[in-house]
Amino acid sequence: MSTPVIEPIAVPADVQAPASFTELVRTALTGQSEDLRPDLNDRCDQCGPASAAAAVFGYASGELMLCAHHTRQHLPAILASRMLSWWIDPEALWHLDLEEPAAT
Ligand SMILES: [Zn+2]
Repeated sequence: MSTPVIEPIAVPADVQAPASFTELVRTALTGQSEDLRPDLNDRCDQCGPASAAAAVFGYASGELMLCAHHTRQHLPAILASRMLSWWIDPEALWHLDLEEPAAT
């Protein structure tokens, strides 16, 4: 039995540097599903009745609702997950500078 040779993964020359997290969020906010927007009765799945939902993430298995605090806490993992649709209250993302960079 021969030892398998692991080929290095070829990186195409036109691959761009990975987008910053803020750019990722900015892109996500342009693809919001307005029909997922939570109403005042929707609650954070992690806090329970204590906190109103500020974001809803739709998956094949169901929806995840999070308050602003838990949205900020879990956003990097959520954006990397296989969500099908989402709505995020931009107010919940005050910690990020989401203004478009000024055109030069
Ligand atoms: Zn919460």
